[in-house]
Amino acid sequence: MTRIFLDTVEKRFGDSVAVAPMSLDIAEGEFFSLVGPSGCGKTTTMRMIGGLETPTSGRISVCETTVFDAARGVSTPPSSRGIGMVFQSYALWPHMTVHQNVSFGLDVRGIRGSKAASRVKTTLEQLQIAHLADRYPGELSGGQQQRVALARELTVGARILQLDEPLSNLDARLRMEMRVELKRLHAETGATFVYVTHDQMEALTLSTRMAVMRDGIVQQVGTPREIYETPANLFVAEFLSLNRLNKLSGVVENGGVRIGNAQLALPRDAVLHHGQDVIVGLRPDELRLESEGDIACKVVQSFIAGATTLTTVETETGYTLNVVEPERREHTPGRQLSVLCSVGAMLLFNSDTEMRISCGGVETPASDAKA
Ligand code: ATP
Repeated sequence: MTRIFLDTVEKRFGDSVAVAPMSLDIAEGEFFSLVGPSGCGKTTTMRMIGGLETPTSGRISVCETTVFDAARGVSTPPSSRGIGMVFQSYALWPHMTVHQNVSFGLDVRGIRGSKAASRVKTTLEQLQIAHLADRYPGELSGGQQQRVALARELTVGARILQLDEPLSNLDARLRMEMRVELKRLHAETGATFVYVTHDQMEALTLSTRMAVMRDGIVQQVGTPREIYETPANLFVAEFLSLNRLNKLSGVVENGGVRIGNAQLALPRDAVLHHGQDVIVGLRPDELRLESEGDIACKVVQSFIAGATTLTTVETETGYTLNVVEPERREHTPGRQLSVLCSVGAMLLFNSDTEMRISCGGVETPASDAKA
């Protein structure tokens, strides 16, 4: 069942378009992320779904019920949409204990006494914060406050939870722990999660599906794996690269791609025109440095970071490339080596449109913003 449906929903602030007409289908039980750089329209999209922002045009339905329709003048207030919201700031009442904060939502719905107490207790236990019930928000860590904010929404039985950058106030280690926690909660509650983040790692690890946005326009919708493996365009590929994507100019020649004086084999089945200019994207973590490989290079610097080695090399044609190898093997600066590209390392893009060229030689169509 479709939980949330956006039909050509647009938001303008004066003359500027915050969200271009967007259509999106989010199914029941999904962990759906809206991801993209700052200002791309993620929060505005989420706020329109929740009823905190009025779209300029379009229609939104939640659980098969129209909650907004610009053409028919329908606009259901946020409190009647059955959507829980957790913000970056958590918005807890500072003068109330954890228990009082969590039971507040039940109280305003007229659920009090032992029934309320038992529901609060169950949720606090589920979120592993039952021992903090009598503390005030000021006495909690960021991660604990985040759990209280989640508990407050889950207690009132929200089947749809919208979370706006909920982990961005936490340090790196706690963020990782909370990611695991969110994944567990999502599986346990079966609720539909809509998640806003600018962190590609968060989106890739948490989502069942995600929409990558840029300047108010959805670039691609799909599973993290689909989007990572077959990005629609150069922007998506660069945005989702955990290590900065190496970009080089190439020309299709003799069944391969020539980059300066290096010749790379084309991916299987690639059909490209002889002489065609392409942008070659090389994923740093799928490259290796060997004595013999595809692109001759000289080591500029190399250092070990935990279990991996980060090396910068310069090619004979003057490109600086980053290589991330999954083992400790520091390379001496100045050493002549060669970059070895695995099949998965190379992505090709049309040099004019920046759309990815798929193995069959057909460019990935521009996003029509459909799920
Ligand atoms: P961030 O990650 O920084 O929160 P975002 O992707 O969530 O960014 P939005 O907050 O949705 O982006 O903003 C999208 C665009 O709309 C931005 O250019 C922003 O400046 C603009 N915008 C948002 N709210 C308003 C407003 N109330 N009035 C005018 N412009 C706004």
